[in-house]
Amino acid sequence: MKKFILAFDQGTTSSRSILYDENANPIASHQLEFKQHYPRSGWVEHDPNEIWDTQIKTAVETIKTAGVTPTEISAIGITNQRETTVVWNRKTGEPIYNAIVWQDRRTTTICSQLKTNGKETLFQKTTGLLLDPYFSGTKINWILENVSGAREHAEKGELAFGTIDSWLIWKLTNGKTHVTDVTNASRTLIFDIRSLDWSDALLNELSIPRPMLPTVVDSAGTVGEAEVTELAGIPISGIAGDQHAALFGQQCFKKGSAKNTYGTGCFLLMNTGEEPIISKHELLTTIAWRIQGKITYALEGSVFMGGATIQWLRDELQIIDSAPDVEALAQSVSDTGGVSLIPAFTGLGAPYWNPDARGTIVGMTRGTSKAHIARAALESIALQSFELLEAMEADSGISLQKLHVDGGAANNDLLMQFQADINEESVLRPKNTETTALGAAFLAGLGVGVWKTINDLPPHEEGAVNFEPNSEFNDRDQKIADWRKAVAAAEYWAGLE
Ligand code: ADP
Repeated sequence: MKKFILAFDQGTTSSRSILYDENANPIASHQLEFKQHYPRSGWVEHDPNEIWDTQIKTAVETIKTAGVTPTEISAIGITNQRETTVVWNRKTGEPIYNAIVWQDRRTTTICSQLKTNGKETLFQKTTGLLLDPYFSGTKINWILENVSGAREHAEKGELAFGTIDSWLIWKLTNGKTHVTDVTNASRTLIFDIRSLDWSDALLNELSIPRPMLPTVVDSAGTVGEAEVTELAGIPISGIAGDQHAALFGQQCFKKGSAKNTYGTGCFLLMNTGEEPIISKHELLTTIAWRIQGKITYALEGSVFMGGATIQWLRDELQIIDSAPDVEALAQSVSDTGGVSLIPAFTGLGAPYWNPDARGTIVGMTRGTSKAHIARAALESIALQSFELLEAMEADSGISLQKLHVDGGAANNDLLMQFQADINEESVLRPKNTETTALGAAFLAGLGVGVWKTINDLPPHEEGAVNFEPNSEFNDRDQKIADWRKAVAAAEYWAGLE
């Protein structure tokens, strides 16, 4: 009997596989890191073959640990680092260049040129994205322009482009299947999120030949079968970019439900239902998923310095030994003593978008201690997230009911309670915070009918911790006002000659 689902969680620094049982309990997992290549300042690359090798090794190791055979596995689900771009030769299956990673900034000039030529509105309206090197489109253009013979081969249909999901599926099916799902497609800067097809106008702007592109499929549904010996015959039936998979894993199925992943940065996504909402606050519009042809959209915003602010306390200020220690240090004082910390180390993101702003600490007195700074650092994570949520509510006209949380820093109870107090809404931390892989497993299970509909998925709230807004917390308005004053100070400083 088939009882298990295998999730591939292909991330930016490691590849991981998790095997789930039919109640979505994790049974076994394995993880391998791979090499980051930094050939020049601002460039970040991965070796696509190493991504594949580590991913398949973790899968084989996982099912070996669990003592399970491929015949007992109903489906494979894939979730992946988004936007990272691979171009390979269809005949040989070999990449013609390293994968250009989402973090890579080499296409800044192409983006600026397009902006200067007045193209940003066209790109934003069509794709829901902003003109930024982050997304795949300009990376494909760079490969075609810079790898000898690439353009000619691409025009003849000899090359294939894919994000990491496409690449893994191509490898898994021995080159039989070249697809991507709508969520990954919605991060490429060449996909029309309304017509749900590649945009000829944008392909033209970026000089990308259509024959290299994958077929776009639903996030759930069988796209092919694995041919690799150790996984032979298992249907591949769930695909989603990492943040979309996390939204799904958190079961944010209702319009207005949202999740925040507190990692190095924070990634917030809100389900906005069947219509795409173009943001007035420089948030991104993205596809949450498509199941049985039915599309769901989301708004997305990110906090650049989330858990990274805590790493800064640890590594640069050296006032804590490990990230979790921040909680006890912050708890040792009852408030920040009037201190606000703006972690604009690399500028301010949405809703401010000020690349020149820099980290700022204001409100210090003779009595300010490292504990006050630690507490202000923690609060800054929640306040930045709150402002993104507020922007999402303003764009969508939907008011948030509950925030679903995951990621490393979501384990910090003080932070989660403060988030609930500032949002004035509850914050729910599930028992299983590995929501990305779980989302891929849910999609894959739905794709082959392990669960018939989303209503049949295992209940999400069992064992979850709920942080309710504290009715005795009466500092909220002051906190927000102080935060905004501190942001203004950071911006004022950046604007001075
Ligand atoms: P990523 O996937 O981005 O590497 P993780 O989800 O693993 O991130 O979370 C790690 C981040 O969370 C680090 O930046 C770390 O500083 C922060 N972090 C981990 N535990 C805590 C904690 N208990 N309190 C606050 N921050 C934490």
